[in-house]
Amino acid sequence: MARMLSKDLPDIENILALNPRVKSHAMLHSTAAKKAEKKHWKRNTEKGCDSCVNLENNFDDIKHTTLSERGALREAMRCLRCADAPCQKSCPTNLDIKAFITSISNKNYYGAARAILSDNPLGLTCGMVCPTSDLCVGGCNLYASEEGPINIGGLQQFAVEVFSKMGIPQVRIPDLPPPEQMPESYHSKIALIGCGPASISCASFLARLGYSNITIFEKEKYTGGLSSSEIPQFRLPYEVVQFELDLMKDLGVKSHQRLRKVTGLREDQQPKCQPH
Ligand code: SF4
Repeated sequence: MARMLSKDLPDIENILALNPRVKSHAMLHSTAAKKAEKKHWKRNTEKGCDSCVNLENNFDDIKHTTLSERGALREAMRCLRCADAPCQKSCPTNLDIKAFITSISNKNYYGAARAILSDNPLGLTCGMVCPTSDLCVGGCNLYASEEGPINIGGLQQFAVEVFSKMGIPQVRIPDLPPPEQMPESYHSKIALIGCGPASISCASFLARLGYSNITIFEKEKYTGGLSSSEIPQFRLPYEVVQFELDLMKDLGVKSHQRLRKVTGLREDQQPKCQPH
């Protein structure tokens, strides 16, 4: 009889739920404090407007960091898991970078994405467009090594992209009481103006805390704000914005758009809002 070498674990979801923890709120760091901290750990030269090149018709910044699974595993293995973790200290969202890199090196892509998205609901967008060489990568202790600093943005994008293909919805924190047992204040109406990155992030954190009546109002016929209107498709495709919007909506956040530009109706004929 063949010897059984391994078997599937009975309840992988519950085991995954143990690690890493999901944070229900943003880590509060003022921009000024974070900028000072970043400067302290920065290992490459500070970029300023004086040194900026003319970007007209310049496509040099086409993203070249997309990693295959092999590339991501190799990159994750290089990480030193530094005790001081200057990468995290240089990240404006305070991502627990060495934790998600450790998850990637263990092939726990779900856990890596979960760590990223729990700290930053726009984890995929930031993995794709953050100026990492100025932030986390600029602080990496491997900066002076022959192979260079860890490609943190590339790893972040890889983990969340794998997760996005899993089709797992965001769920309410199971430790919270059911919605009908939440205090009355948690059912108050909350309105956020403009469906851009700030509102998506704010609404996600509020919904994770248990607030159940959150609506985002958007005047344009598209959602995503700056991510959809200003960042070119070759850096940030619409599907990425839609993925993060869908994760937010999994928690029951509503978004409304005016119809003005879609229907061409006169102002007095327009319906005020349309569920999106
Ligand atoms: S500083 Fe670089 S090597 Fe150290 S934990 Fe962060 S990513 Fe890894």
